[in-house]
Amino acid sequence: MIEHHLDDEMLLRYSAGTLPEGWGVAVATHLALCPSCRAKLGVFESVGGYFLDRETAANDDQSDAWSKVHARIEAGEIDKVVAIRREGSTDTTYPEPLRSYIANTGGLKWRRMGGGAAQMIIPTSDPTTTVRLLKIPAGQPVPEHSHAGTELTLVLEGSFSDAVSTFGRGDIEMADSDLMHQPRASEDRDCICLAVTDAPLRFKSRFMRWLQPILGI
Ligand SMILES: [Zn+2]
Repeated sequence: MIEHHLDDEMLLRYSAGTLPEGWGVAVATHLALCPSCRAKLGVFESVGGYFLDRETAANDDQSDAWSKVHARIEAGEIDKVVAIRREGSTDTTYPEPLRSYIANTGGLKWRRMGGGAAQMIIPTSDPTTTVRLLKIPAGQPVPEHSHAGTELTLVLEGSFSDAVSTFGRGDIEMADSDLMHQPRASEDRDCICLAVTDAPLRFKSRFMRWLQPILGI
């Protein structure tokens, strides 16, 4: 059961085609796993174009735009919400479109990061983000860090916990510069995540900061 979903603003930007590709890979992968966000996307797609043309032009705050759309739906001004258009593929660790991104780079190639952790950079044409797969060994922590920008983490296999919550397959955690956290994989199995960042992480340990350019994180 997915408990941590996409935020409305990101989903709205995805449906409007204005979300940079790096975030889009994670959004689309979450959508493949999450019927509830697919249903919400259906709402955006049916009313979003109409609405964005008329109101976002005057008001750039898209989360505000969504609350207005939502109010109209609640008030019955906008007709019944839309059926889910496409089914997600939930049977593999790497659902589409992520699977194709991995295939396009020649398949899974993990690169060791130390402490048993490994990563694989997923190339995209978006220069504003870095997209990577992370594998954290069962029971192990990721080095404690905060964020200069935003970090989106989507769990694909296993689970991890930090001070905020526990995140399982399909769950999304959004972290920004206010959060110093140390995610730890659950004891029972390795945790595989898709992580998107728009700025380098800020590690607490001097050693990790020294390693950053070498690891490309
Ligand atoms: Zn969701």
